[in-house]
Amino acid sequence: MAPRLALQHTYSQARNAFLQAADSAGATVQTFLHPLTGPEGEQLSIDVAELGNRNATEAVLVVSGTHGVEGYCGSALQTQWLRECSASSLANKRVVLVHGFNPFGFAWVRRVNEDNVDLNRNFINWNDALPQNAEYTSIAELIVPRENSEAEQQRTIGELLRIAGEWGMDRMQAVVSSGQYEHSTGVFYGGSGPVWSHKWMREWTAQAFTGVQHLSVIDLHTGLGPSGYGELISHVSKVDAEYQRATAMWGEVRSMVDGESVSATLTGDWLGVTEELWPHAEVTAVALEFGTVDPISVLLALRADAWLHGYGDPRSEGAVAVRNQVRAAFADDNPEWIEKCWQRFSSVMSGCEK
Ligand SMILES: [Zn+2]
Repeated sequence: MAPRLALQHTYSQARNAFLQAADSAGATVQTFLHPLTGPEGEQLSIDVAELGNRNATEAVLVVSGTHGVEGYCGSALQTQWLRECSASSLANKRVVLVHGFNPFGFAWVRRVNEDNVDLNRNFINWNDALPQNAEYTSIAELIVPRENSEAEQQRTIGELLRIAGEWGMDRMQAVVSSGQYEHSTGVFYGGSGPVWSHKWMREWTAQAFTGVQHLSVIDLHTGLGPSGYGELISHVSKVDAEYQRATAMWGEVRSMVDGESVSATLTGDWLGVTEELWPHAEVTAVALEFGTVDPISVLLALRADAWLHGYGDPRSEGAVAVRNQVRAAFADDNPEWIEKCWQRFSSVMSGCEK
């Protein structure tokens, strides 16, 4: 039997498949152009497909590509949903699919955006003092060394393993991935102000979901947890009413701030500002995180990518190997993997009778 779905190879292919499926499903589509282009000079955009009853008070928002490269999976899931499930009953519901929230990272096969910024560390309150991460600073030159020689790779990895042995892996993960605002060529960098995608979200939400009273948000991610397993992650504590709504809706949901999740507690994720974005609605937001490879492979891919864009040449021949490494860390081309992700996603999106 031929596999039912597969990951696309480029951003443009993923976008075209999404737009075609949206068109066939009769969705209304809006395109928001990004100022830059992809590696082949291709146009970049955030595309929004909307289906169902525009006057419904209940809506579901599904976002792909917050972390660029993670959009290969997210886009495939959104596209499959449009193909298989969009005919299911939407009489009392609106479904909105945001494709490629960080289109630059998606096209350039990066987790971060055009400013080397992790979009999910960028939604802090920029009027406040910046979050501090002194421990990241203490290992910044080991995480992304300026020099790419074999000797330097060995030295820095050896040193990082020694420190990880001292700190323990959980603390290491928290230090590296919780977010940092000082090292613009580092990893999990939150930026120095609101980035393009951040500003777009605030502008778009001003006109999206007016009249909606109950909004569910599913933000699609990859790269953490066991391969093909989809963990629902809430950014609020278990005592919060939003967490309780989420578990009532989806079953097991792990709280990031209570330390239950595969994700470390982080600063500046966009799901943390949904109350600001939609003050009129009761928002229930989760990240759906699909596992790929082990955390060390993910970190090695991220540091190769950070080096390439910080100190190397993203247009060089060697850049292709780095992009392949990053893609393999965040998207698995084995059809069984995306099939597992699809089974999970379609059950989270209730109402899809297959
Ligand atoms: Zn992610």
